[in-house]
Amino acid sequence: MVTALTEARRARRIAEQVPDPELPMLTLADLGVLRDVTVAADGTVVAALTPTYSGCPAMSEMRAGVAARLKDAGYERVQVRTVLDPPWTTDWITAEGRLKLAEHGIAPPGPAARPAPGPVPLDLSATRRAVPCPRCGATDTEETSRFGATSCKALWRCRACQEPFEYVKEI
Ligand SMILES: [Zn+2]
Repeated sequence: MVTALTEARRARRIAEQVPDPELPMLTLADLGVLRDVTVAADGTVVAALTPTYSGCPAMSEMRAGVAARLKDAGYERVQVRTVLDPPWTTDWITAEGRLKLAEHGIAPPGPAARPAPGPVPLDLSATRRAVPCPRCGATDTEETSRFGATSCKALWRCRACQEPFEYVKEI
């Protein structure tokens, strides 16, 4: 007998493997946007996603991707819900996701500068962060454009190896 919990785990594994439309080397699991996957008594799969950057038009593609993969896997009724609270932060990108970005020549985001609940410690070092070059590791880098091909990425250039690279902005 297949329990609802086992079904939910199977459905989650399928949804997790959907690639991000903007950073296709990352899955939704790598991005940390898949909040929950449940299977209702009538067999309806409900997947909950948290959108990434508000400026990114990727959410509808993510939703469609999750629904399509689950339907391909034999789930006839699929609902994709959007969960806005708590808002997504780049801190939710997994260690594996950060590794994949670097392997593709994209600098992963630093810690998000989101105010923590409670007293906020004054941390001046967090305001200006060196972005290491994903190719050679040098920290002698500069931003050349705040917005790259998509609003979630900035364009940087390494002064050491002269190569331009993309940087996923922390939010
Ligand atoms: Zn470099």
